[in-house]
Amino acid sequence: TEIIGGISRSRIAAVREHETMVYVAARPRSEAAIGKGAQGYLGGVPMHWMRDWPMPFPFIVKKAKGAKLTDIDGIRLADFCLGDTGSMFGHSPAPVADAIRRQARRGLTYMLPNSDALAVGTLLSERFGLPYWQVATTASDANRFALRVARAITNRSKILVFNGSYHGAVDETFVQLQHGDQTNKKGLAGEFRDLTQGAVAVEFNDIEAVEKALAEGDIACVITEPVMTNSCMVLPQPGFHDALRAATRKHGTLLLIDETHTISTGPGGYTRAYGLEPDLFVLGKPIAGGVPASVWGMSADVAARWQEYEATKEPGYSGMGTTLSANPLQFAAMRAMLEDVMTDDAYKWMEERAERLQEGLAKVIEDNGLAWHVVRVGARVEFICAPGPLANGTEAAQAHAPELESVIHLGLVNRGCLIAPFHNMMLVSPATKKKHVDRLIMAFEDIVSELAQ
Ligand code: PMP
Repeated sequence: TEIIGGISRSRIAAVREHETMVYVAARPRSEAAIGKGAQGYLGGVPMHWMRDWPMPFPFIVKKAKGAKLTDIDGIRLADFCLGDTGSMFGHSPAPVADAIRRQARRGLTYMLPNSDALAVGTLLSERFGLPYWQVATTASDANRFALRVARAITNRSKILVFNGSYHGAVDETFVQLQHGDQTNKKGLAGEFRDLTQGAVAVEFNDIEAVEKALAEGDIACVITEPVMTNSCMVLPQPGFHDALRAATRKHGTLLLIDETHTISTGPGGYTRAYGLEPDLFVLGKPIAGGVPASVWGMSADVAARWQEYEATKEPGYSGMGTTLSANPLQFAAMRAMLEDVMTDDAYKWMEERAERLQEGLAKVIEDNGLAWHVVRVGARVEFICAPGPLANGTEAAQAHAPELESVIHLGLVNRGCLIAPFHNMMLVSPATKKKHVDRLIMAFEDIVSELAQ
């Protein structure tokens, strides 16, 4: 029979059948509520990503607090998905919940700054080192707006993305390399434009390909995560970021670093930890603890060029900003996050426990004689059911084993642990206790040895 990640397909199917039964039997209330889809929603869920969970149906959450989720059947899970990073610092951290409660009585949106807004500007500059910031509502929006600025001030049409990367619902980044050809991403819905007119995809860690693309002279900006976290997890090879920065400078191309996931590295993100020097910087999801908010920063040089550009334009309809952006609820939550939650101490705990998780998972893999590997970027850990390290998006796509991975995920849920649905990502929050980490290692040991048997 066919083998996937060292496990036979028939064994995967048998384990799936058993785990599905266990999941369903434990959740009569969730099954009654959503087993056949929730009424009133297209596809039975309020957002179609919710169909991507590996469970037969999603469970209905009653409460999420710290690193724990409780569902309506009374089952408690240690949450390592943490809203796929939106709740990376735990669900409803007390300082954020308090700040939201305070602000809730004082107005929720009014398109004017308040004193929290003033404080946050300073906090962002101090923490991330860039002098000028704007606030948006999603990381997708922040990336879109930052790319608009990049094209405007360079007067160049194209951007460069790494193959297999993800930066949100940003049309212009939806290109890929397939057998050497540039194409739109295959899953992209309703797109009739040839996006390769405005973007080029090259492999991560391939500095020669970057150089060659930049030499064309039409690339406004390279957009990248410091580590590719949306494509299994691909680490930069030694020297890659230095070479990327040198190449972009040489060709007059701007560098946008998207820290939305890699803020797991440390208080100033991967950028501060590794001394990256972006022209544009984006951080979304966790920055307001789960309140929809994102920030994008720029260097003094970019800001000066933008001012010059703006002076030449008709005012209005810039294609940037949205009405609810920079609202007081966002600022209350961001201020609490930056001042009281995303602290050096919090990161120290997260790092320590994430290291414990990484070592525990690696040992299970070794004990079961599997050719898998584990990668970690600060508080973000990923197991990959294939040998590593991976060098780029193409290798990551080959390593990804959805059929096997989904049964592991389901097995983990049945053993009290939730991890991210799209790949094998686990986040350790300041609220994640050692016992949660140990529960996940034990659950992993249990389901992996079931499969490897
Ligand atoms: N950038 C990165 C690196 C991401 O992983 C994501 C989402 N997974 C985004 C941007 C977009 O975030 P959002 O969906 O909140 O707009």
